[in-house]
Amino acid sequence: MSKSIINPNLTNFQKEVMFNQSTEPAYSGEYDDFYQAGDYACRNCGALLYSSSAKFDAGCGWPAFDKCYPNSVIQVPDIDGRRIEIVCSNCSVHLGHVFIGEQLTVQNTRHCVNSASIKYINKDQAHPIQKIESLVVGCGCFWGVEYWFKKLNGVVSTSVGYSGGHTDNPTYRQVCSGETGHIEVLKIDYDSSKVSFEELIRYFFNIHDFEQVDGQGNDVGSQYLSLIQYKTTEQKTIIQKILTELEQKGYKPVTKLLTETKFWPAEDYHQDYYTKNGQSPYCHFYKKIV
Ligand SMILES: [Zn+2]
Repeated sequence: MSKSIINPNLTNFQKEVMFNQSTEPAYSGEYDDFYQAGDYACRNCGALLYSSSAKFDAGCGWPAFDKCYPNSVIQVPDIDGRRIEIVCSNCSVHLGHVFIGEQLTVQNTRHCVNSASIKYINKDQAHPIQKIESLVVGCGCFWGVEYWFKKLNGVVSTSVGYSGGHTDNPTYRQVCSGETGHIEVLKIDYDSSKVSFEELIRYFFNIHDFEQVDGQGNDVGSQYLSLIQYKTTEQKTIIQKILTELEQKGYKPVTKLLTETKFWPAEDYHQDYYTKNGQSPYCHFYKKIV
C-alpha cells in the first residue's frame, strides 16, 4: 500500500520519520519522558494506536509500549534484514520497531516508537463531544473526490451526488448529458471538533486542479466544475482568504463559491467507488499547495 500525507500540518522532520523510515535522536522526542493518562494516535491519519496504560520506561530514549490497540499496528520485516518494523495499519506510515523477548514487562514486547509518528490525546480529548457538520464540494469525478476526503481525519461519512441542476432526482446518465445543469459533488459530514472548515477547504485545494475550467484532467464537462457550497458569510470569508493566498502564490483558481442548494445522492454503485473496486483515482492526487 502506498503512503500518502493525510495530515496537512506535518513538519518536515515528522514526514522524514514517517515516510522515509528515519529515527529521531534518542531522548529527543516529546513523549520519551511523558506519562500522562490518555491515548496515542497516528500523527498522520489519526488512527488510535496505543493507550498510555501500555507505556513504560524502557530507558532506551524512545517511547515504549508493550502492546497496541488490536489490529492498529502492522509488523513488517525491516529492510535492514534484522529488525521488525512497525507501521500504522490504517495509513502505513513508519512508527518504529518492535522487539520481542527482552523480558522488560509481562507482555515481553517493546514497541519502540518515534514521538514524531504519534500524537498524544488526553482523556478528555479522546472522547470529545462530536459536533457533526456538513459541507458540499465539487471538483471533478466524484469518485476521486470521495477517495481523498474519506482519508481525512475528522471526516465521519461521505456521499457522492448531484447538485445545482434544474430537475429532481437526476440520474448519472442525465447529469453526464450536461442537459440538467447538475454538478458532481461530494457531501462531507465532518466532526468539527476534530477538523475545521478551514482545514477541509485547504485540503480541497490540495487534491484537485483548481485552475482547470469545467473539468479535471481528461474529464471535461460542466458537471466537473470546481465549486464550494458555503452556508455562512464566515465560511465565505475563509474560502476567499484561501483563494487570495493561492492568487498570491501565482495560481489562477476558477473555483466557484455558491450558496447551499439541494443535494441528490447518486446511485449506490457510485458510492465508495474506489474502495469497492480496489482502484485508485486517475485524476485526483494530493499535493500540498495551501
Ligand atoms: Zn496512520
